[in-house]
Amino acid sequence: MSSEHHSGSLIDNASRSKDDQSGDSATGQSPAIELRGLSKKYGDLDAVRQLELSIRSGEFFTLLGPSGCGKSTTLRMVAGLEAPTEGQVYLEGKDVTATAPERRSTSTVFQDYALFPHLTVLGNVLFPLRMKRLPRSEGLDKANKILQLVGLAGLEDRRPEQLSGGQRQRVALARSLVWRPRALLLDEPLAALDFQLRREMQDMLKELQSEVGITFMLVTHDQTEAFSLSDRIGVMNDGRLEQVGTPHELYYQPRTLFVATFLGNINLIRGQVESSDNDRVVARCGPLRVAGRSVSGSIPPGTDVTIGIRPESIRQNAAHTAAINTATCRVLSTTFLGSQEVTLLEIAPGIHWRCYEERGRTTSNIKGGRTMTATWDAEDALIFTDSDDKKKLPL
Ligand code: ADP
Repeated sequence: MSSEHHSGSLIDNASRSKDDQSGDSATGQSPAIELRGLSKKYGDLDAVRQLELSIRSGEFFTLLGPSGCGKSTTLRMVAGLEAPTEGQVYLEGKDVTATAPERRSTSTVFQDYALFPHLTVLGNVLFPLRMKRLPRSEGLDKANKILQLVGLAGLEDRRPEQLSGGQRQRVALARSLVWRPRALLLDEPLAALDFQLRREMQDMLKELQSEVGITFMLVTHDQTEAFSLSDRIGVMNDGRLEQVGTPHELYYQPRTLFVATFLGNINLIRGQVESSDNDRVVARCGPLRVAGRSVSGSIPPGTDVTIGIRPESIRQNAAHTAAINTATCRVLSTTFLGSQEVTLLEIAPGIHWRCYEERGRTTSNIKGGRTMTATWDAEDALIFTDSDDKKKLPL
């Protein structure tokens, strides 16, 4: 990207459509952020292992995973706040691995705001422009535009202590965006906020990203947050990227048991493959026979597998008499949750599954202790050969 690209206003930037900058293969444009073989060791600990990742310009990309899996370390290496042990970071096609943070075209927002307490809202937002020696009138114009965008117009003269947590984070966002970085890096920016405010700030972040049109890279452990904000998500586990995809792809086509269990609820059962035809697999699971779809191609008969079925894929009492993908089970409880009913089923001795029914679809008022038939489609039974979570699995 040429330096002229940095000189317009935020509003000019917003007017570039997402399609203009949607992707590398479509436009020949370099990825906004590219990681090649990126690793970080702290002593003997492999915090980040051999990450390969390409984030498109204008994309809202999220690194999602449990605490300690290496998300922040990865983001800090993109920002230049942490040096990789191995590998490279590219920003818009340029190797910046050895470039200081302030010379990179990225800006970072942290959970704890890190505002200057003695400066006003306006003073905080003007600060990066003063560092870049922008004339004050030009700076004021940019600061006022970005304060308007984050919904802080009218609060310019307040000091951070006179603001709520949500407002402080808006100031931090405005300060990070005012100098028009090419990518905004967000390290759990909403983690300190209460539930309601988080939801509001998520909406604001999404709107803000579409307004400013730049690449956002977010780190979070919150699946709902990742799903509601992201174009694509990279799921991390133990320093590795397990899978990258859209929320829909990750939810319905998880490639590993970890991804399947980390994203939403999934009922699991262990079994052994009886037969397999490409990705179509039939497995014996104690008293049940399950036909399903392998996430990793053909699996030889006799292989131990784990089968996962989402609660919403299970039908109750459907007219279905086949001896496969059917379980006669005991209803342990039914919980009404407004738009949904959650039924806990004992699918086989000691194996409890959840089943979600949208309200109104339930054919009868099922009380605990009753017997019913649960069925599901082969398309919805995912077969995994990995079992990194054996402890939790029945059979
Ligand atoms: P996450 O952001 O996913 O919670 P982090 O990237 O913060 O995870 O940390 C990954 C691993 O690296 C953790 O085990 C953490 O304890 C360790 N770690 C992070 N920073 C340091 C550091 N400066 N020194 C030593 N270990 C660290």
